[in-house]
Amino acid sequence: MATYIILLGPPGVGKGTQAEILAEQTGLAHVSTGELFREHIKNKTELGILANYFMHKGELVPDDVTIAMVKDRIMRPDCEAGVVLDGFPRTPVQADAANSMLNEIGAKVDVVPYITAPKEVIVERLSSRWTCRESGHIFNVAFNPPLKVGVCDFDGSELYQRDDDKAETVQKRIQVYLDRTSPLIEYYRTVGILHEIRGDQEIEQVTKELLDALKK
Ligand code: ADP
Ligand code: ADP
Repeated sequence: MATYIILLGPPGVGKGTQAEILAEQTGLAHVSTGELFREHIKNKTELGILANYFMHKGELVPDDVTIAMVKDRIMRPDCEAGVVLDGFPRTPVQADAANSMLNEIGAKVDVVPYITAPKEVIVERLSSRWTCRESGHIFNVAFNPPLKVGVCDFDGSELYQRDDDKAETVQKRIQVYLDRTSPLIEYYRTVGILHEIRGDQEIEQVTKELLDALKK
């Protein structure tokens, strides 16, 4: 049976970092909606132009286009063993859509690790995050630096600071998270599949606790 994991938590808590590691260690596909949108922006597609309008302001991209994009992505062959969803769902409507799309393929959401950290920690992390141009690998100049300044360890491409990681947009994104995404915490707690994990620990320790949560 394929496994579907949803990583929940505020921007900057470490979802992308952990999703990359988990995917590598478990053989599941890493599906990041933020990264999919950034690909579309890079390729100047119609969806990219639309997504950029919202992302630039720190707002969410509308549910309908986001859901359609995820549905298409998780049906691809590399997702056969299952998926680590990073950044989706982000609204109750998206959570319902996740249930229906998995239901259609005889699957379900198996576990929802909810990664937490104090606001100061996530703000500091976002202000020092550097992302790889080629495929979205994530670094941090203060906490997880690349071997060579400005260059991705994995594919040698350029590292850049995301436009939405600037201070004002970060505050907006945190507020949008609190307003629109945080209701999902209680929802998945009620379903009985939420596992709370402290994200303000070393990357390796967070990974260890995530892998423990997956075994349960
Ligand atoms: P999210 O996907 O939740 O927004 P990221 O995985 O992009 O978060 O992490 C945000 C920033 O914090 C990145 O620069 C990343 O390198 C760094 N980071 C991730 N996990 C940790 C950790 N446990 N300790 C310190 N820095 C971290
Ligand atoms: P972070 O890693 O900091 O949480 P993401 O890369 O996940 O940021 O998302 C960046 C932006 O992409 C969001 O601020 C939002 O505009 C858009 N986005 C990503 N995922 C979704 C989603 N599921 N629904 C709507 N918008 C999304």
